[in-house]
Amino acid sequence: MPRPIEAIIHTDALAHNLRQARLHAPDARVWAIVKANAYGHGIERAWPGLMGADGIALLDLDEAQRVRALGWRGPILLLEGVFEPRDLELCSRLGLWHTIHHESQIDWLALHKTHQPHRVFLKLNGGMNRLGFTPHAFRAAWTRLTALPQVEEVSLMMHFSDADGGRGIDEQVDLFTATTADLPGERTLANSAAVLRHGHRPEVRADWVRPGILGYGSSPDADEHDIHHWGLQPAMTLRSRIIGVQHLHGGDTVGYGSTFEATTGMRIGTVACGYADGYPRLCGTGTPVLVDGQRTRTLGRVSMDMLAVDLTDLPASGLDSEVTLWGQGPGGSVLSIDEVARSAGTLGYELMCALAQRVPVHVS
Ligand code: PLP
Repeated sequence: MPRPIEAIIHTDALAHNLRQARLHAPDARVWAIVKANAYGHGIERAWPGLMGADGIALLDLDEAQRVRALGWRGPILLLEGVFEPRDLELCSRLGLWHTIHHESQIDWLALHKTHQPHRVFLKLNGGMNRLGFTPHAFRAAWTRLTALPQVEEVSLMMHFSDADGGRGIDEQVDLFTATTADLPGERTLANSAAVLRHGHRPEVRADWVRPGILGYGSSPDADEHDIHHWGLQPAMTLRSRIIGVQHLHGGDTVGYGSTFEATTGMRIGTVACGYADGYPRLCGTGTPVLVDGQRTRTLGRVSMDMLAVDLTDLPASGLDSEVTLWGQGPGGSVLSIDEVARSAGTLGYELMCALAQRVPVHVS
């Protein structure tokens, strides 16, 4: 018997979530974002749920080759562009669209001998100060690029820093609009939060949207709106089983460091899942978990291979009961990865990307 832990990738949920993106950003084309190995889901595994996108956006040539190997002939966008001049050769052979966010990428293109002209997205730094040209330098970069025989098409791009709340997007939308006002070319600005919260605005959804996390069924603004509010379905389930049951008396403690102490009699289950599976160690006492589809909570510290859950109010559950750490549980139950992430002081993004290699993954 293998250890009873597994992750399930729900391709129907991926397809559903992409349809939600289209509903929120009508008429915009959709880049499905598969960087970080499809946010930890595995590009190949997630693929049947992603093929309905208009384009695939990703990080590097390895991911691009994998997507082409899956038979995808449509647009592929390198979100950070090429990292060194020799990448342009493969970029050209694979027919990739690539982001230009600094001068040296233009220098490399100018020297590149290509048979297939390049399609590029010129990136404006809208204030996030991560990648992109300042508004002041943007126009000169555009002029340089459009003059290059190596370049067939120049599109325009920006990335929001606060689409999920905070300062919002208005200032950055205004900056983008002012900087690009009289420039031709397609435009892309919106990540998941911008699609869901502002996709009704034509200048935000523009020609292409770039929803990443929403496709995987995690809310981009989970502190304000959960996945049910946005009509999203979890695309990853992490589940295990109860492999031990203990009966506690008042004063008994649970796990390393004895951080949880029972005040009265309790029944607890030991689950075959720990931080070495990618479940956050910070999810101590009180993190929501489903046992046989019913909500309960973790108790004490998460250890490397196990964690404890409260079974006191679940008399029908015990040894071998199914435990949903996040995702889709039995009987239509759902535990959003966002709730688990909150308990660890992080985001669904980090948890899905951190699923451990040792967890067997199946596709449904
Ligand atoms: N576009 C760019 C340039 C990104 O870097 C990312 C993710 O970081 C996305 C789109 C997708 O963002 P999200 O997953 O928040 O939708």
